[in-house]
Amino acid sequence: MKPTAVVIGAGIGGIGTAARLAKNGYSVTVLEKNDQPGGRCNQIVRDGYRFDIGPTLFLMPEVWEETFAALGEKLSDHLDLRRIDPTYKVRFEDGLQLELTSNIGEMQTQLEKVEKTAFTGFLNYIAEGSKHYKVSLEKFVGRNFYNIFEYFSPANLPLLFQLKALSKHYNNVSRFFKDERLKAAFTFQNMYLDLSPYDAPATYSLLQYTELAEGVWYPMGGMYAAIQALVKVAEKLGVKFIYNAPVKKLLVEGSRIEGAVVEDGRTFTADIFIGNADLPYIYDRLLPDRAEAKKLDKKLYTCSTIMFYWGVDRQYPQIAHHNVFLGGDYKASFDRIFKDHTLPAEPSFYIHAPARTDESAAPKGQDTLYVLVPVGHLDENGDQDWDAMVARARRKVLERLSKEMDIHDLENHIKLEIIHTPKIWKEKFNLAKGAAFGLSHSFWQVGYLRPHNRHAKYKNLYFAGASTHPGTGLPIVLLSARLTTERILKEMGTITEQNLVKAHVAAKA
Ligand SMILES: Cc1cc2nc3c(=O)[nH]c(=O)nc-3n(C[C@H](O)[C@H](O)[C@H](O)COP(=O)(O)OP(=O)(O)OC[C@H]3O[C@@H](n4cnc5c(N)ncnc54)[C@H](O)[C@@H]3O)c2cc1C
Repeated sequence: MKPTAVVIGAGIGGIGTAARLAKNGYSVTVLEKNDQPGGRCNQIVRDGYRFDIGPTLFLMPEVWEETFAALGEKLSDHLDLRRIDPTYKVRFEDGLQLELTSNIGEMQTQLEKVEKTAFTGFLNYIAEGSKHYKVSLEKFVGRNFYNIFEYFSPANLPLLFQLKALSKHYNNVSRFFKDERLKAAFTFQNMYLDLSPYDAPATYSLLQYTELAEGVWYPMGGMYAAIQALVKVAEKLGVKFIYNAPVKKLLVEGSRIEGAVVEDGRTFTADIFIGNADLPYIYDRLLPDRAEAKKLDKKLYTCSTIMFYWGVDRQYPQIAHHNVFLGGDYKASFDRIFKDHTLPAEPSFYIHAPARTDESAAPKGQDTLYVLVPVGHLDENGDQDWDAMVARARRKVLERLSKEMDIHDLENHIKLEIIHTPKIWKEKFNLAKGAAFGLSHSFWQVGYLRPHNRHAKYKNLYFAGASTHPGTGLPIVLLSARLTTERILKEMGTITEQNLVKAHVAAKA
């Protein structure tokens, strides 16, 4: 008889783990709270406008290729990927504009206009980012740590220094650029990991390398096309998805999970359980132990976002596919978000306009605009007036578009408006504190120090997703699915270490 698994949540981490387990001979059922898969990587289609609600940057295509290969498929048979280059248009309040691009000549012209030595700084910075990316992926992000000695092993300790894990990113970027705007242009991406560059380890220059060298991609049909492709592959492998099935409790017996009870009373039993719903939420709401839940509550969480999804009845060609607007006082704005859990006085924001690349995102001649404004996560003890913050964020976005892009009439052309606040991230996807990206990635919350992908007490409860190892972001969560599956197969005796290596080599080939 086949071993059985129940996965709680059909986010990318849940789908990825389910498909990999099915490929390895498991009979897998996925229980999803909502009426469709994808979790944060979801979409809204209304009145001809199609919005990806969360991720918009398809990064690290090699990780996606490995996932599909491990499932016996070819990524290019499922997704039509287009490279977006320039990656972003970055705008500063003083009028400076930069187009971040993999075109080295273009970068040189733009950077030298701002600062004479900036191009040399840029080349060195990207070279360092490349080293950080490769070493991190091989030695820290792409592997499991089964004990603290493996993590802080004599072989790994020198790497922590090589990766500048103990230096601050902002201090480090100052070695390459003097101009404050350039320092901002090459560190704001830390926001995705929910770290202020003033606190983030300098290791995270790997993000800028990934975007510029490995590329920012877009799957035609939208990011949700990637979820649909993965679900199709999982179903082909026999995975059964059950929607509108919120798990309300995990039944425990000694050191094992015996079943997952759904709101309507059905109980699903299995040999193993995989929690893909946000890990702190699972500890807090589905398991009995309070002490662990309380410890997790005290950890650092990522920021949240106010989102505007606008269906617009005309197009503004001056808006590119990816647009970043950096706000006034860079340091103060991170402090407002991460320390005060609020909206900065001059908020930075990002606009996604996918119809520039993919006409199917909006009715002909019209536009689909997604505006993401980073904001603090929900704070039970704070004084957070979300209506006021939403109104201010909206006003600031419209003001900057008017002042810097000559877009004065957008408000009159918004035919459809959907707004998401941190409360919606929490209610819709059960994200602890409405933190959009899960647990933070500070030095003390990564690697072996991040909540582990197997429960310490319940030996048949595993985790895959943004708040366990290795962390957030679609490709990193796909790695989480791979690592969790490998751990399950190893611990359940379904696969030997040697077979694992063989499987990797085969998937890579
Ligand atoms: C605004 C935003 C922008 C982002 N931009 C990018 C980007 O450009 N590129 C990138 O790579 N990443 C990006 N990310 C991060 C990325 O979306 C996440 O890291 C990733 O989607 C997390 O996947 P997951 O499987 O861990 O969790 P989730 O997507 O949260 O999936 C968990 C699933 O569990 C379900 N669930 C919860 N509770 C229960 C329950 N009790 N019973 C059953 N099911 C349950 C949820 O409904 C959900 O479907 C972004 C995220 C956000 C929010």
